[in-house]
Amino acid sequence: MNLITKRTLLLGSGALIGGFFGAKNGAKNPVLDGTTSLQQTGAENLLNDASGLSETPIHKHIIVRQDPNTGLISILRDEIKTAKAEGRPVSLSAARHSMGGQSIPRDGHAITLKTDFFEPDTAKSTFRCSSGLRWDSALKQMDAIGFGPKVMQSNNDFGIASTFCVNAHGWPVPYSAMGSTTQSFKLLMHDGELITCSRTENQDIFNLTMGGYGLTGLITEMEVDMLPNARLQPKFEEMQGKDFGTKFVAALKDPTVQMGYGRMNVDKRDFFENALMITYRPTENQDDLPAASGSGFVSKFARNLFRAQLGHEGIKRHRWWVETDLQAKLTAGEVTRNSLINEPVVTLDDRDPTRTDILHEYFIEPSRFAEWVNVCKRVIPGSYQELLNITLRYVARDSEAVLSYAPVDRIACVMLFSQEMTVRGEADMARMTRDLIQGTANLGGTYYLPYRLHATQDQLIQNYPAATNFATLKRALDPQLLFRNALWDIYMAKL
Ligand SMILES: Cc1cc2nc3c(=O)[nH]c(=O)nc-3n(C[C@H](O)[C@H](O)[C@H](O)COP(=O)(O)OP(=O)(O)OC[C@H]3O[C@@H](n4cnc5c(N)ncnc54)[C@H](O)[C@@H]3O)c2cc1C
Repeated sequence: MNLITKRTLLLGSGALIGGFFGAKNGAKNPVLDGTTSLQQTGAENLLNDASGLSETPIHKHIIVRQDPNTGLISILRDEIKTAKAEGRPVSLSAARHSMGGQSIPRDGHAITLKTDFFEPDTAKSTFRCSSGLRWDSALKQMDAIGFGPKVMQSNNDFGIASTFCVNAHGWPVPYSAMGSTTQSFKLLMHDGELITCSRTENQDIFNLTMGGYGLTGLITEMEVDMLPNARLQPKFEEMQGKDFGTKFVAALKDPTVQMGYGRMNVDKRDFFENALMITYRPTENQDDLPAASGSGFVSKFARNLFRAQLGHEGIKRHRWWVETDLQAKLTAGEVTRNSLINEPVVTLDDRDPTRTDILHEYFIEPSRFAEWVNVCKRVIPGSYQELLNITLRYVARDSEAVLSYAPVDRIACVMLFSQEMTVRGEADMARMTRDLIQGTANLGGTYYLPYRLHATQDQLIQNYPAATNFATLKRALDPQLLFRNALWDIYMAKL
């Protein structure tokens, strides 16, 4: 039986279960009675992001399709000039999948890039691209020449400069975040000057812009590492949740491992008791690699099982069994590295206007992972939030980004919650988020900045001690504070 056929069978069980429970029992979502809806109004001159909870007034929103060679720079210079004259902020973005207004300039000029330029250099294993290029397009073009991204997120919709500006990471190992795979970029400053930043030219601005949420200027193009694509074989190992951190880093000492991640069970009865580690190594035969497959049919079926978990503890347990038992037995086939990361966000879309998916992410030292599991056991099951998934990755130490979230090697713990879009749902999420941030910080860990901005000011400083220095350097680079977004307005403006 080939891989697709086996997966289809397996995930078809998800479709059936999703369909059965949806039709027979209806949703049993936790409901917070008597609350005001926070669903977006969609009114004119309001801009939102992937959270659906960040609607913010803006002055104007333009979409720019020009590349750096075909007019992008002069369009951006004009926007900067006008915004400056009017005293308004400017912000550039790609997919606006950040979740707390990090890509939205209040009352300002919001610019969305939809640009295409891609130029590989196979001799150097790098590619040049326009800053608004999305990973799906870049990946397709690299795949065609036998290469793939060195580090990108687990989904392919995001912009490449955005990835650098949040310093995102994925599950390619044993690397640090995407910034570590960036060679250089061009940055348009507040005064219209275009400068090159790299490890040898304007290195201070390079480090400030890496994970700097667009607050230093507008990136117009980039040069980024790629590496040869490979055919990989997965290995599945079950373990107790508390042991994952140490066992994962031990497994990654094997230099042949190219991709690796983990999962834990999310049903409330056995919450985070069990973990599954999946590592991928190259197969002997690396000839004739197939083109990167998209998620297509198979992942659309997986969505049903994923969504059927909402409010159903039994289905959460069933999904865990599917992943650890059926999946390990039936889908242990070969897959290319590029196919593994060629997944659009829309695959798991909830299609429910009353709820929204909210991501959280915490970075914790492997040796403290067991204690972090206990923090989550204490905080999450008692909340109103529905945790549908947790993925565990590895991020090597990042000593470059000023706002580094991995000053030492860390396990990245990515959680996907389904949140009711109500005032009480939001208040409960904010409370739970602060508890998780504090519990993580007490263990020396850090939370991730592109998601909801529920942290307190003290928590921001505790998690990112360099934030004050970041704000000082930003003010020196951008004295009129032209480049602003909610991350600046809520926290950094006070530093
Ligand atoms: C479903 C989902 C899965 C995710 N998975 C991962 C993951 O695996 N790993 C991970 O690390 N993160 C992950 N994230 C977070 C994601 O990496 C960030 O939200 C990222 O910013 C998304 O890219 P974007 O194009 O939507 O960025 P946007 O939200 O558009 O922008 C992000 C920031 O970059 C700035 N920016 C963008 N382009 C430019 C530019 N050209 N010049 C200057 N500033 C710019 C924006 O102003 C903003 O501050 C995930 C998010 C979602 C919703």
